[in-house]
Amino acid sequence: MEPQLELLPPEILEAQSAFAERLSACADLDALLRMKGAYVGREGSHAARLMELLKTAPKEQKRDLGAAINALKNAWEEALKTRQAELEATKKAIPAEDATLPPPRPPEGALHPLQRLMDRLVEAFRPLGYHVEEGPEVETEEHNFDGLNIPADHPARGSSDTFYFSARPDLLLRTHTSPVQVRVLKRYGTKNAAGVSLLEEKGGLRFLAPGRVYRKDEIDPTHSPMFHQVEGMLVAKGIGMQHLKGTLAYAMKALFGPGADVRFRPSYFPFVEPGCEMDVRCPLCGGSGCRVCKGSGWVEILGAGLIHPKVLEHAGIDPTVWSGFAFGMGVERTAMMVSQSPDLRLFFENDQRFLAQMGGLD
Ligand SMILES: [Zn+2]
Repeated sequence: MEPQLELLPPEILEAQSAFAERLSACADLDALLRMKGAYVGREGSHAARLMELLKTAPKEQKRDLGAAINALKNAWEEALKTRQAELEATKKAIPAEDATLPPPRPPEGALHPLQRLMDRLVEAFRPLGYHVEEGPEVETEEHNFDGLNIPADHPARGSSDTFYFSARPDLLLRTHTSPVQVRVLKRYGTKNAAGVSLLEEKGGLRFLAPGRVYRKDEIDPTHSPMFHQVEGMLVAKGIGMQHLKGTLAYAMKALFGPGADVRFRPSYFPFVEPGCEMDVRCPLCGGSGCRVCKGSGWVEILGAGLIHPKVLEHAGIDPTVWSGFAFGMGVERTAMMVSQSPDLRLFFENDQRFLAQMGGLD
């Protein structure tokens, strides 16, 4: 007699339709035993629930329902038994360990893809004499804003954009790596007992500042409350836009290959004058237009400009003698572009499969 499945409740029909797939997904005996418990176990299983159902079914349905339940239960038990035999056979088939084999190599760690990109940037500037400077992630308003010519009423200073500490409202989590500029400029601008500053002693300064920064952003595919920037700065005498352009064009060739092409667009940042943004010719399509460059053939990669005289003045450096340039780029954004990763969050989840794909685990 055909089992009358239409008499069975929907959750059982669902369990039945998923049965075959779940069964073949059982990769070992433990998984199979769990599935056995769920389907034909003595208590709480689908079969047990069916038996309850049979008890309360109207008298005229009992015969057909009972037959349907029995057919289903038998089919489940039969299939579970077959799969169990299969799994037991493969278990037995595994040969005994060969004690003469070398032990398995433990997985090797590697640098995170974001760290590797920052290292590559540092390496790109090293031949030009740049060294690395670091600063604290907990900063003062002076270093994060005032020293960078960011006015007191600038929206970035609001508590909706910036993380302040409730116990110490004068402290914040730095919103960019630019406070490192202020710290380094102050260090180089301070005159020693003989009245000579480090800047005068060395004839200039140049450095990169890679690091973590924080902003009150909701987490989404292109935003994160914590991300990385690499900042760069050069101060010397007689520095102009041509030096900025030459330096960045050189570094982009080191980063993206000798064919890398750049263009500059005017832009505004309070700490530079004039300010600009730099695009690189899309490294993925070579300029013909693709999803990453949104068809334009160019991707924005950094903001830059000549250091604002007020920034130099704040650090005790005479802007009529000294001039320089600064630039800063978002590391995640560049990493997403270079790797064509659609989601920033992938870089923070530390899924080994993603890291391995990024070359993070060789
Ligand atoms: Zn493109």
